[in-house]
Amino acid sequence: MRLILLGPPGAGKGTQAARLVEKFGIPQLSTGDMLRAAVKAGTAVGLQAKAVMDAGGLVSDEIVVGIISDRIHEADAKAGFILDGFPRTVAQAEALDELLAKKHMELDAIVELKVDENALLSRIEKRAAETVAAGGTVRADDNPDAFKVRLEAYRAQTAPVSAYYASKGTLKTVDGMASIDDVTKAINGVLGA
Ligand code: AMP
Repeated sequence: MRLILLGPPGAGKGTQAARLVEKFGIPQLSTGDMLRAAVKAGTAVGLQAKAVMDAGGLVSDEIVVGIISDRIHEADAKAGFILDGFPRTVAQAEALDELLAKKHMELDAIVELKVDENALLSRIEKRAAETVAAGGTVRADDNPDAFKVRLEAYRAQTAPVSAYYASKGTLKTVDGMASIDDVTKAINGVLGA
């Protein structure tokens, strides 16, 4: 199963990806998680990406395509993967098509979580509060200023990715405003699982 989860920041992609990992036994490939790990480790990629991530902007296509290209060649991704937060631009979607074609691989589904944008900021604030309550560290970009930039990046650069897959007839849309369990059910429904 090779799957893409699309949707704006705060739509619940990470939560649903974790459930799909359990169900299908395939890894969640989150470019956001991988970039945060690179920042934490102080790698060259991390140093390049940190400022733009903290401000809520998008890291260059070249960097994230390089990360994904390496990652999908790893052994645990052989049976499939769930892409979370990638592709975020049409150029990334095209690069992914090329990468997969070279490996004679196809995507099984692209699932978009549709959410009311007005609900997103409060979801992000809730996520930050829950992280603090659990003793964790809040993401540097989970604040209102960076969130505005992230939402703008989504509208300008990522919304066209949905149109890209819709035009190919591979896009499935799910109501991301439902409860977490109902969203999971709806995703399983469109996957026929
Ligand atoms: P996320 O955890 O998916 O919300 O990503 C956090 C941040 O990492 C984003 O706001 C971007 O700065 C960066 N990022 C993650 N994935 C991508 C991507 N596919 N393209 C560009 N930037 C990305």
